[in-house]
Amino acid sequence: MWRRPKRFIAFLVAAELVAIAWFVNVFLDTPPPGLLDLLRFAILTAGATVHIQMTRRQEERRRNRVRTVLIDLTAVWVFPAAIILPGSLTIALVLLIRVQHWFVARRPAHNFVFSSITHMLAATVAHQVYLALGGAHWSSLTVAGSFGEFGKLILVALVYEAVQILYVGSILSLAAAKPTLHNVLGSRADNLLEAITIGLGAVTAILLVILPPAVAIMAVVTVVFNRLAELDQLQDDVRTDPKTQVFNMRGWTESAERALTRATKADDNLGILMIDLDFFKWINDTYGHPAGDDVLRNLAQLLDEVTRPSDVVGRFGGEEFLVLLPDTDQATAAGAAERIRSAVEHLRIVTTDKRGDQITVSKRTASIGVAVFPDHGDSLEKLMQAADAAVYEAKEGGRNQVRLAEHRPQRGAEPTH
Ligand code: GH3
Ligand code: MG
Ligand code: MG
Repeated sequence: MWRRPKRFIAFLVAAELVAIAWFVNVFLDTPPPGLLDLLRFAILTAGATVHIQMTRRQEERRRNRVRTVLIDLTAVWVFPAAIILPGSLTIALVLLIRVQHWFVARRPAHNFVFSSITHMLAATVAHQVYLALGGAHWSSLTVAGSFGEFGKLILVALVYEAVQILYVGSILSLAAAKPTLHNVLGSRADNLLEAITIGLGAVTAILLVILPPAVAIMAVVTVVFNRLAELDQLQDDVRTDPKTQVFNMRGWTESAERALTRATKADDNLGILMIDLDFFKWINDTYGHPAGDDVLRNLAQLLDEVTRPSDVVGRFGGEEFLVLLPDTDQATAAGAAERIRSAVEHLRIVTTDKRGDQITVSKRTASIGVAVFPDHGDSLEKLMQAADAAVYEAKEGGRNQVRLAEHRPQRGAEPTH
């Protein structure tokens, strides 16, 4: 943490101190809890504990991953506390949950403190807003009255999610070198998962008031839900190259086949770039394989950065990458390839040599082959062959260059336009 920019640290510490002052204020402002409050608190604590302890192994596995979706179902237990319990018990529940998470997650302490404060902030702000709206009145509701209560729940759920997104987002935008909307606000999948979790939390709140033993069902639901979320993660993994975190061939081919089907139906163009680093073996031989790996990772990241969000980057194997460019004709595809070629030339990669000393790898080059649908083939296989042949031409031509595939109309095929 201390290696981060100064303004980031200053902002983080200030934000955390303000949040803590607010928690103390909420805590002191709460009337002493009654017996019913304590009973409900005990039920939520029990549910959360079952959930955390039953998904321990899974969380530990997740901790060892490089890239992971955020699977934090804490809101199933914290949101109902914010709705039903007094402020002091809400804070106590978040603390109890976070202490247990600490022993499972073992993340860097400042991250841990930060996300604990985020949860607590979302819960206490939601709590205060709900109180300001009049609190829960769920006994003997009319149908019309129940819609009013439901509306309040939705409003408070939105506040709960918004606090998390804004608090985390403002910190991330300061921490990131180049903040993007996606990095700062989180992926759609993460936010959707969080929204569903808060929805489950609202159900927990209703059960807690109307039929407290049924909260046990929510403990089962959260454990199963955790597993489902992991399944989603595994599905992602089989399509991802572990070294570079871009698509592997399975993932890229699936995407490319879908895009090709769309392009065929819509009579669109589609570009494919095959990128092969020049004299890559030299890097391995000179600096060692870890340095070579760093170059591959940096190249993958560069490809991600210089392409459009709709383009699909994949690792073909070794030091070869593929980029799929939907809705792109020859001239545009060649332009994109040229942008990549020049970006590779300017890429500087800080890594270590065979003795572990820091070095900078720079002035690397790549040979790029460009094939376009339908000009160079009508199937993915033919397009990839064409792009591969173009890479070969680029190598023959002296490397560090872009080559367009040659026109090879199919034998016997009539021109369609
Ligand atoms: P050219 O300009 O003709 O493309 O030369 P090149 O050295 O790039 O090509 P060549 O095919 O001879 O060498 C590719 C090298 O890439 C050989 C292989 O050891 C290395 N390689 C393949 N996969 C990996 C990897 O995952 N990590 C590292 N560090 N090296 C890899
Ligand atoms: Mg190669
Ligand atoms: Mg090569």
